[in-house]
Amino acid sequence: MHKIIRLAVVMIICGLTMINLSVSQTMDDPVKKEALRTIDQKAQLLIDVSDKIWEYAEIALMEYQSSELLEEVLEKEGFRVEKDVADLPTAFVATFGSGNPVIGILAEYDALPGLSQDSTPFKKVLEEEGNGQGCGHNLFGAGSLGAALALKQVMEKHAIQGTLKLYGCPAEEDVGGKLYMARAGLFDDLDACLAWHPDYETSVDVDSGQAVDDLRVEFFGKTAHAAFDPWMGNSALDAAETMTFGVNLLREHVKPSVRIHYVITDGGKVPNIVPEYAKVWIWVRDLDRDGVKAVVERVEKIVEGAAIATGTTHKIHYEGSYHEMLINRKGSEIMQKNLEKIGPITYTEEEILYAQKIQKEAGIDEKGMVVNIEKLKEPEKYPEGGSTDVAEVSWITPTIHLSITCAPHGIPWHSWAVVASSKHPIGYKGMFLAAKVMAATALDLLRSPDVLEEMKKEFDEKRKGYTYKSGISPDQKPPVRIKRKS
Ligand SMILES: [Zn+2]
Repeated sequence: MHKIIRLAVVMIICGLTMINLSVSQTMDDPVKKEALRTIDQKAQLLIDVSDKIWEYAEIALMEYQSSELLEEVLEKEGFRVEKDVADLPTAFVATFGSGNPVIGILAEYDALPGLSQDSTPFKKVLEEEGNGQGCGHNLFGAGSLGAALALKQVMEKHAIQGTLKLYGCPAEEDVGGKLYMARAGLFDDLDACLAWHPDYETSVDVDSGQAVDDLRVEFFGKTAHAAFDPWMGNSALDAAETMTFGVNLLREHVKPSVRIHYVITDGGKVPNIVPEYAKVWIWVRDLDRDGVKAVVERVEKIVEGAAIATGTTHKIHYEGSYHEMLINRKGSEIMQKNLEKIGPITYTEEEILYAQKIQKEAGIDEKGMVVNIEKLKEPEKYPEGGSTDVAEVSWITPTIHLSITCAPHGIPWHSWAVVASSKHPIGYKGMFLAAKVMAATALDLLRSPDVLEEMKKEFDEKRKGYTYKSGISPDQKPPVRIKRKS
């Protein structure tokens, strides 16, 4: 702590360069060093892009301004940008270079609904019912952009052979843009892919998370007056309740790794009308696709039974499913080495105080920021709950994933506190570290065919002959709300 504060004083004196010096650089590879310097030089551009995406705060499939901004910067910097890919108007692929190897970097930028918040260390809504970057995707998008820009610069200067692709991936929070991008084959030519995510700890991720199925169940009944002639009706709400009762009984008979959660999104309008329509939105998660499938088959039977019992009919909509992440240990080791050489982040006293204020407001331990870099762990038998559409990519090409501290330790994620931190130096510093670690790791992959070969071998062994199957049907269209403005 004292050491951090001493360093902080030096940084305050340094003024603007504070941001550039925020990540210690013990990197000995001259090409990597140059890439890291490029990110420092582009610090202001990355902050500007990140802040704009934060201000736009566009939710899933509405990220028109955010994607256009990233596309514009990439085009200006000499990338070939393919827009409106995979039926997603806010998705893009930006390419530089040619030939093999082909390395991908993922970028996200969607916000969350109803989380409007200023960058203050206390709750302050900016716009009633507005949106906010409660998952830090503004940093995610700009950080990945930083890595791509730095890589292009050194690839060009040192004639490094290969192709670099930055993927603009919309709608991570809802819909799952990568699900559609994967189905369209956009990741098929990659030799490896890199991604990161803001967090309140720093580590290379070794846990596979959870596979998930997203189902919407509709029940159709018959309406009647609930007091005058209820015997004429068949309640769709009764069917929904019978279904959820059955699902709750099922919980006793599933493996401890299974998670089931639902909401009744439509259960009728008023009590004196027997509801003719009801809708249940349900997610089933487990450690892998097979586990999810087994539980979903039970849920399907319960739905069928609920409809029979209540004299209603039903329809199940399969909205999508994610795989669990396929971890690539070799790739993770390469990234860990770069992370340890480039990090950890140091913070000013002011920044630590800001973090502690947020923690006080959130009613949690006022620990400030976590600076240490976690060692590369062995995967947990029961990983933390949660799923990501990055997992789709991980079954198509060896994928390496990084979490970087961008917010005060222990704060609730998807909350005002993340929105606040994502437009603050504590967020920016995480973004720079992520950009640097991804750039350095990509350089290892571009320049070492042996490493890529090893990653590929591990990938093939772990896939056990499985080739990626999309969790959505070939004709399913993404629920695009509005078309791109002309
Ligand atoms: Zn996120």
